[in-house]
Amino acid sequence: MTATIEQRTTTGRGNGIFALKSFRRGDVVLVGELDATPIKNHSHASQLSKTKFGFHKGLSSKFNHSCDPNCGIIVNDTGGHNVVALGDISAGEETTYDYAMRNYAIEHFPDACICGAPNCRASITGWRDLPQQRKDAYAGFVAPYLIEIDREKTASSAASAASAVSAGA
Ligand SMILES: [Zn+2]
Repeated sequence: MTATIEQRTTTGRGNGIFALKSFRRGDVVLVGELDATPIKNHSHASQLSKTKFGFHKGLSSKFNHSCDPNCGIIVNDTGGHNVVALGDISAGEETTYDYAMRNYAIEHFPDACICGAPNCRASITGWRDLPQQRKDAYAGFVAPYLIEIDREKTASSAASAASAVSAGA
């Protein structure tokens, strides 16, 4: 099989993953293959479900974060994270995704984000801290458990608001 991506040195951002061919929106850039047993939250682990964290094999962990990424995450049948083109990508372009597309909270990147995007959030934050507009822009390209957590939080805050109203009545 011919490689369609490869690891290269970026300018100022360490190593990254680059496209060797062009991709169109929805094309799978990398099939996510899970490695070993899930472990507790760790700096290089990805969130795999509402409560589980784990590692992927191969180049999965080598993608750089961007606040304006050209790829997204779609969870495949094995629970692995496929990296999927969010828009058209040309051969030679760096492929990135937003780490918030798979992690609800990010506590392991204390340093400033250096992605260079005009809309850079200044630090790498999780899904929890994304503005709604960004969440909408990523629709269909984020891990579904993030949406589920949001839905549960909305439901529980609505429930507590309702109980506050009845307590006050
Ligand atoms: Zn950024």
